[in-house]
Amino acid sequence: MGETVERVQKGGGADSAQPRADLHVHTNHSDGAHSPTEIVRRAHAVGLRVISITDHDNVAGLDEAIAWGNRIGVEVIPGVELSIALGDKDVHLLAYFFDYTSRKLLDYLTFFRVERLRRAERIVAKLNKINIPLTMDAVLDQAGVGAVGRPHIASAMVEEGLIETYHEAFLKYIGTGAPAYEKKYQLNPEEAIALIQCAGGLTFLAHPGKYTTDAELFSLIKAGVDGIEVVHPSHNDAREQYYRGVVNQYFLLESGGSDFHGGKKNDADVFGAYTVPMHVVENMRSRLFA
Ligand code: AMP
Ligand code: FE
Ligand code: FE
Ligand code: ZN
Repeated sequence: MGETVERVQKGGGADSAQPRADLHVHTNHSDGAHSPTEIVRRAHAVGLRVISITDHDNVAGLDEAIAWGNRIGVEVIPGVELSIALGDKDVHLLAYFFDYTSRKLLDYLTFFRVERLRRAERIVAKLNKINIPLTMDAVLDQAGVGAVGRPHIASAMVEEGLIETYHEAFLKYIGTGAPAYEKKYQLNPEEAIALIQCAGGLTFLAHPGKYTTDAELFSLIKAGVDGIEVVHPSHNDAREQYYRGVVNQYFLLESGGSDFHGGKKNDADVFGAYTVPMHVVENMRSRLFA
């Protein structure tokens, strides 16, 4: 809590004189609670100049967000969050500034979403086998138009009274190694980076402080990520400085944002509190058009 307050003063909410950007935001097109329009409205309300909508495996919220942003003066950068396999680990990549109408990219994203649906069905079947009577309908009610993920399963379990808290779902049932865990289909780092490059975009390692070791971080730099997400709620000041140092040492780009989802994640306080200055966005643009 103390850290958030400090960041609001340090970073840029409504009181900040300098324009700021939040380059990691989810909508109801993945596991976020709010519509793209609602997100853009909130961004405007907290004084953000630029946001990127980074739904998991989905770009369907972008048109609405961009259109609404144009109306009220918030720039929306096309984004997406992809999951890749690094050894046994599920690592997240953020991509920005790609052509979100690229046929190849759209086909891949559709494929990932179908795979997510099949995996949700396997998780529900595993839960049923251990006498947790969750239905796919309850999960799909949570997912709505969004790409189905474990957060929807966790929320459905709470909603159906099968568990007390959202986190309990991951701890006892669907977290890595738990009884109803199921892997998701993933590209390897090189494939994911190439996919985004083909669509003209930049790729960033998302929230390395969450669960990425230094060895994994450096293997992703070698694989060709353009940058690292330096500012994220899971990074304390020391982590942030460390990743900024790596970015500078390897001539990479920096990114950052709140990873705001809303709803059951109880993360409302992060929106507007984890931001980057505009030169971070300008550096990305110069790398693209160099
Ligand atoms: P999925 O992409 O369907 O595998 O879901 C991954 C998402 O589940 C992550 O982005 C987190 O939001 C959430 N998640 C994963 N592990 C945990 C955990 N142990 N506790 C709470 N949320 C988690
Ligand atoms: Fe998410
Ligand atoms: Fe993530
Ligand atoms: Zn995210």
